[in-house]
Amino acid sequence: MIRRVGQAQRRPTSNDLIVTTVGRRCAWPTLHGAIMRIAEIFQSIQGEGFLTGTESAFVRASGCNLRCWYCDTPYASWEPEGEDLAVEEIVARVEAMGPRHAVLTGGEPMLWAELVPLSRELARLGRHVTIETAGTLYLPVACDLMSVSPKLSNSTPSPKRHPRWAWRHETARHAPEVVRRLAAEYTCQFKFVVDTAADCREVEDYLAGLPEIERGRVMLMPQGTDAAELAEKATWLEPYCRDHGLSFCPRVHIEQFGLVRGT
Ligand code: SF4
Repeated sequence: MIRRVGQAQRRPTSNDLIVTTVGRRCAWPTLHGAIMRIAEIFQSIQGEGFLTGTESAFVRASGCNLRCWYCDTPYASWEPEGEDLAVEEIVARVEAMGPRHAVLTGGEPMLWAELVPLSRELARLGRHVTIETAGTLYLPVACDLMSVSPKLSNSTPSPKRHPRWAWRHETARHAPEVVRRLAAEYTCQFKFVVDTAADCREVEDYLAGLPEIERGRVMLMPQGTDAAELAEKATWLEPYCRDHGLSFCPRVHIEQFGLVRGT
């Protein structure tokens, strides 16, 4: 069987082939020899979602297929940076940190087929694995919590300033077939970034189109890059969540540390 990375199909076996973005046919990468571009590896508390406050080792893959205007990690999206690391080295650095929880984030970590051996090795070593994704790409990863953050129309960059990226972003950001598959195969949480009260209507439309998503697993979090902005938006978003059976999602890492790397 041949598949393209990100194409929603049945769970592949180790015998399946993939066709990479450059059209090369290959088997799933194995642990040995696989390399990923990593923007940063650090230890901190999880700042968002069901596991807020949990001490975790974070691995931030560099590169993203989207370009949200409000992206809080531009060094992994707009201007991707980092070093090329062997997956074995990434595992060793995570192992050297104390926490049992490992968070594989980005950028968009699902861009990397190497996420498959990385996540499977961390799971084999007893780590609780969370993967943070925008839900536009699928990989058969090992994952205890799939943290999906589908991007609303409020995320699209300015078509005037970034015409190419505005088009690419708008074409790629909504991938219901991928989100459906993730919801079916993994324990998920769904986090939506809300900028204005009007965005809540769009979240409701999104959920109406994907009834597979349980409302109890949906969180709305305010868009903002400092504590004051988040606090202002919480004044109307928190009551909205309470009244509509959704969870309000604070962004504790920004509230506590501000918008700095390694948190
Ligand atoms: S999907 Fe995430 S990493 Fe990518 S541009 Fe949007 S906010 Fe940044």
